[in-house]
Order: sequence, then structure tokens, then C-alpha cells
Amino acid sequence: MEHVANQDARGLARLLGVELADARRLLGAAVARGKTLRDARNVRREILDRAAATLSEERLRVAHREDAADGFRRYLFELKDGAHVESVRIPLFDTHHTLCLSSQVGCALACSFCATGRLGLTRNLEPWEMVGQWMEVRRDSQLPITGAVFMGQGEPFHNYEAVIAAAYVLCDPAGGRVDGQRISISTAGVVPMIRRYTAEGHKFRLCVSLNSAIPEKRAALMPVERGQPLDELVDAVREHAAARGRVTLEYVMMAGVNVGEEDALALGRLLSGIPVRLNPIAVNDDSGRYRPPTEAEWNAFRDALARHLPGQPIVRRYSGGGDRNAACGMLAGTVR
Ligand code: SF4
Repeated sequence: MEHVANQDARGLARLLGVELADARRLLGAAVARGKTLRDARNVRREILDRAAATLSEERLRVAHREDAADGFRRYLFELKDGAHVESVRIPLFDTHHTLCLSSQVGCALACSFCATGRLGLTRNLEPWEMVGQWMEVRRDSQLPITGAVFMGQGEPFHNYEAVIAAAYVLCDPAGGRVDGQRISISTAGVVPMIRRYTAEGHKFRLCVSLNSAIPEKRAALMPVERGQPLDELVDAVREHAAARGRVTLEYVMMAGVNVGEEDALALGRLLSGIPVRLNPIAVNDDSGRYRPPTEAEWNAFRDALARHLPGQPIVRRYSGGGDRNAACGMLAGTVR
């Protein structure tokens, strides 16, 4: 049975063979208002009956949630097949939240600094299982959730169509009502899907996890590099930037690994002429293999980046919730 949150209002109208206005009312009741299809207003009984008979309204089960000292809240969801995924609610200015969502159970890409990568891949999530994370977190929140990032468990571009469908439900006025510009999709660098994403012209922000501009080093950190090398990745980023503007590049900083002068120099060479925004972020690795840079190491790297990437915004990102396994790279379905 198709889930009501598997498609936006247009998709729902096609699926049910109803007017768009009716589909909006149905989706609005089930997603925007968090009630049930039968709570849709001004919809004929016959359409309500058909929708209720055709569509699943199943909810995700929150198995566990915990608060980190810095206000980040990690949610653990148990899916109907017993698999677990996580979301992290991120506080912004005490006035609203943004939500980091999972797109798969585990991940096949096995980045060496990431706890999710050590799990391997169990399965893809359906669109409603991503929208459902947002719905359950919203139910639990006093403040509005005004943004969503597909940066939790999984490689979003390995579950491309479902992620795009979920993003459209999240930004639908009858769905999550999140501004499309505040929805980010983060890929480790699946080049054919970046190209497809660019060609399709979606409105969501693209983020690419780069982590090194030196091919051998990147390959050691991110096995995806072996099949889809840096020069192809950078070509795809350049094309996206030409079509859509500045691309955000994430850079997980690991002391003694990728924060030296030669790393900044390689970044400058690789990204020359491409409008990017570099987001360095300190590694969170509870395996003990990697450590984040000290303040002195960060300051030196920041200065080197400023020299080698002149005119490119460099915005260090804070990855919170580390004391509750909620930080970037720590999502592995744990309960402590
Ligand atoms: S960093 Fe992202 S792509 Fe890499 S293993 Fe972790 S979840 Fe997968």
C-alpha cells in the first residue's frame, strides 16, 4: 500500500486521480497538520473513502531519544522490519531547528572516519520513512523546523529517487512547508547522480563531501574515490556551480591527515575558478583512529586555506551532540 507521504501533492493527485486542490487538502491533513486523511477539510466523502482505503498512514516509532549538552537531540527510530535509523535535531538561535535526516539504513560507502560506514548498508529508506523522521521530530518540538539536511545515515544519491521525492514532500506547502533553499542534499561524490541532479534542475542545495584534494589521500579516506575519481567529481561540481551557483564542499578535518599546508595547496589548485563554499568540520571519531585538530592546528589550516583559496568563503561548521553520538560521522544506531 502506498504511503500518503511518499509523494508531494501533485503526485498524490495523479495517484488518486483527483484534483490538485483535493490532494493538497489530503496531504495537508496528514503531513502539514500531522493528523489523519479523514481530518482533511472540504473533501468529498467519496474521495476521503478512496484515499483512506488506498493510502497507508503508518507512523515511525521513536525507539529512543536523548539530549546532548549543547541542545542537539538525537532520535532513534525503529522501522517495521526492525532496522534502526537516526535523525538529529539541531537548535538554531533558540528560535527554530533544522533536522539532519537519514536516507538509508547504514551506508555502503565505508568512509574510514564514519561510524555509519562501519555498519555497511542494510537497505534504502522509502520517501515516507524520511518524511516520517521529520514528522515525528516536529511532533516533539515546540519550535518550528525550518530546514532539513540529508546528512544522516546513508549516501542520499544511492537512494536518489526516494530522496528527491521526500525533499519535494518536505517543501510542499501541504507537506513540510520547508523552504526548498533550506533543504540540503549531501553526497560523498556519486558523480553520475550529481550530473543527473544538475540536469534535472532541482531547487535543493547540493553539498559534496570532499575531505581531501589529494587523490591517494582521498581514496584512503573515502573508497568512493576509487570508482569516481577527483577530476571527474570536480568536473561535475564545476558543471553544477555553472548551472546553479556556489557549491558547498564539506571537509572533515583530521589532525595529521588532511589539515597541512600541502592539503590547502591541493585544494587551491583543484578548486581554482570554481565558486565553492568550503565547510571545514572537525572529525568525530569514537574509534580513536582520528582526532580533531587543536585550535593551533585549525588556525594554521585556516590561514593556509585563506592563502590558497582567495575569495572563496570558508565557514567552519560546528558539529554538535558528540556526547550523545549525535555528531556528524557518529550515527550508528547506538543507545547508551
Ligand atoms: S560519511 Fe556519509 S557516505 Fe561516508 S560512510 Fe558515512 S554516511 Fe556513508
